This record gives sequence, structure tokens and C-alpha cells, in this order.
Amino acid sequence: MGLSEIKDRMRKAETDAGRAPGCVTLIAVSKVQPDARVEAVLTQGQRCFGENRVQEAAGKWPGFRERFDGIDLHLIGPLQTNKTRQAFDLFQAIHSVDRPKLARTIARLAQEVGHCPDLFLQVNTGEEDQKAGVLPGDTDSFVAECRALDLPVKGLMCIPPVDEEPSLHFALLAKMAARNGLSGLSMGMSGDFERAIALGATHIRVGSAIFGEREYG
Ligand SMILES: *Cc1c(COP(=O)(O)O)cnc(C)c1O
Repeated sequence: MGLSEIKDRMRKAETDAGRAPGCVTLIAVSKVQPDARVEAVLTQGQRCFGENRVQEAAGKWPGFRERFDGIDLHLIGPLQTNKTRQAFDLFQAIHSVDRPKLARTIARLAQEVGHCPDLFLQVNTGEEDQKAGVLPGDTDSFVAECRALDLPVKGLMCIPPVDEEPSLHFALLAKMAARNGLSGLSMGMSGDFERAIALGATHIRVGSAIFGEREYG
């Protein structure tokens, strides 16, 4: 598919939804992709990327940053508290804040270093046992807890269950964000980003539709 087609489809989805063209941020999810594919997308001008592992990002992005200016890197996968410092060095945003202990660790470190990445709180909208995120019923109190820690919470993030209509989850996430006064919505992937844009996504996370299928070795 490729970057320019995804951007065209984003513009169309924005317009169809009565939203301003260009209002949605595209996070190009480069996890597992070979460097040559990532470089090709950088060369086409894309600067916002998503990775789901701190370690993998640490191996890959410092080199690209020496060669390309303005890279905006987002962590979209689980963060262990002992990797928080490394995550602060690498990422401008963290979409996977999913538990009070992590929020407290981030707050402590933000105090110490004097800055903090933008934060999205991950909600387990499908209440799946194996999935990270706070449960919908715990979300309001988690938002309040993060605010009490003075954290820069920009919005909410979700990954809908694979076998359910994602729109229901996007609508639920949008409702929870609105009632908490949060404007950021990180939702929508290769297969459903247009539906996410229709329901108010501000950040979509698209991997395989840009780079091709991931080949796990
Ligand atoms: C891998 C991943 C994506 C991208 O998935 P695609 O289906 O390849 O677009 C989006 N969000 C998260 C959290 C991911 O781990």
C-alpha cells in the first residue's frame, strides 16, 4: 500500500467525518520492519514513528536520528518500570501508561529530569485477560490519579479485541475521554483507521499498511 495512499485515505476519512484535513496524526509503526523499509518512509518525509519495544527502539532509532532531523518517536507497547529512564531518552510520547505503579515511576522521573513525554493512558476496552490497560470502570479514577501526580496526560489509547467490531471500542474510548476532558484519542490501526477517524481519533497507529507485512524471524 504505502505512505501516500494511507495519507490519501486519512484525508478522505477526515473530510467524510467533517473534520479538518490534516487534523489526525499518523504514527507509522515500524516495529520489526527492516531498516531499509523504515529509511524509505523517512525519505518520503514521514517523521512520526511508533515502536512497541524499548530495546528494539534503542537499537534502531539513535542511528536514524543522526541522519534525519525532527523524528518524533512514540512508544505504543508495554513499559516495564525499570525501562522508564531509557524510554524518556528515546520517546516523545508514551501510549501505554496502564497502571498506577508505572504512573508513579514516570512522575518521579519527570520531577528528576524536568521533562516528561506526552502520555496516553491505555484502556482495556474489551476487558481481555491477556491485554494491558486499565479496565473501563477504573479509567476515571486512573485519570484523576495521574492528574494528581501532575502528569501530562494527553488522552486515552485502546487496542480493540481482534474478533470484535472496533467501532464499539472506539466509541467507548471517545466517551471516556470526553467525560474526563481529554482531547487525545490514540486508536485505529491498518485494518480500521478510517473507522477510528470517524469516531474522533487524533492519533492512528498504522504499521503493515505502510511498510508491508511484518516478518518475524
Ligand atoms: C503493531 C501495532 C500497531 C500496528 O498494527 P498494524 O495492524 O500493522 O497497523 C498498532 N498499535 C499497536 C499497539 C501495535 O502493537
